[in-house]
Amino acid sequence: MKTGNRHLDTRLIHAGEPKPPIEGAVSMPIFQSSTFAAEGEPGYYNLKYIRLNNTPNHIALHRKLAASENAETALVTASGMAAISTTLLAILSVGDHFLAQDCLYGGTNDFITEDLPACGISFDFIDGSAPETWAAKCRPNTRAILVETLTNPLLQVADLKAVVAFARKNSFVSLIDNTFASPVNFRPVEWGFDLSLHSGTKYLNGHSDIVAGAVIGSSTWVDPIARKLARLGGSLDPHACFLLHRGMKTLGVRVRYQNDSAFKLAQFLESHPAIQSVHYPGLKSHSGHMRAGELLDGFGGMMSFEVKGGVNAADRILENVTLPISAPSLGGVESLITRPAITSHAGVPPEERRAMGISDSLIRLSVGLEASEDLMEDFEQALKRV
Ligand code: PLP
Repeated sequence: MKTGNRHLDTRLIHAGEPKPPIEGAVSMPIFQSSTFAAEGEPGYYNLKYIRLNNTPNHIALHRKLAASENAETALVTASGMAAISTTLLAILSVGDHFLAQDCLYGGTNDFITEDLPACGISFDFIDGSAPETWAAKCRPNTRAILVETLTNPLLQVADLKAVVAFARKNSFVSLIDNTFASPVNFRPVEWGFDLSLHSGTKYLNGHSDIVAGAVIGSSTWVDPIARKLARLGGSLDPHACFLLHRGMKTLGVRVRYQNDSAFKLAQFLESHPAIQSVHYPGLKSHSGHMRAGELLDGFGGMMSFEVKGGVNAADRILENVTLPISAPSLGGVESLITRPAITSHAGVPPEERRAMGISDSLIRLSVGLEASEDLMEDFEQALKRV
């Protein structure tokens, strides 16, 4: 995972930092100014203004984000949904059609099904693991294909190599939501994707204290998205830029720890008699295990599982654990536990949700940085009391 002679961990610390450091500051200062003195007649998108995503904090962060995935450029946004919605609205126009994986994050699913049709954009869902079925879903006006690296919450792994090949063959834009994997475990541009999208709220920032998003890729694709973002207004403020910038410096150590800890916990849960099933791509029992092993540098810190006893038993677990906090979101230093049916996928109609494989009793766990021994002990006591 090197660019030139620099490893990812080095790039996360040093890439994008102003050189020489501003006033000698080791940490990128916050430029808390909405506007900046104009110089000459630079044109609208070159005026320095927070909504135009071009203050010193944006510029440094864009460079760091691009370096994290070995891409040419990047754009930071006000949320993951701002990254996803702005990208789709920049790439697709009235009359266009696109393909989306059939088990995406609930908010993305809602945007596709509820908002895009109103913009005259149609879609079809595809099974990410069945490339032989994709051609039948294409139309003359199909323009793009969207998948997630590891789907939320079942951790499915689409045939990502086939997605890139299929998009290239048909001249579609290939888009991937890389939130769950993070740049530590997968770098989409290296595998040929046109654009990588993130909820920066999660692993990139890692501290559950901001909402942010990112679009990473070549300037051919990112520049028009930046102009669309400037018009739609989903820009990140400088203070949140600073926090995301700071969070990214520890991304490597955090995610590698979470990879290890989640693997131990997944093995522990899978062997526990009170557990019905565990979805974790690091487990041999997971349908995407072989593909994840080939594509990813780590299996990630997310898993989902079912306890024997249905929704009541699931709710008892959420009440009984003392370390994981029962809350939506993920990727932070503290473990978070939730039932997707009532949080991340609550907006998806129940029958569609079940068709996606998300039962009401499914529990999703984001493994934090607590000692894995303490987490296992906590689950042991919580499972005993179901
Ligand atoms: N993508 C994925 C995979 C997510 O899990 C989420 C949120 O949970 C989003 C995008 C949306 O991110 P945000 O809440 O930052 O808008």
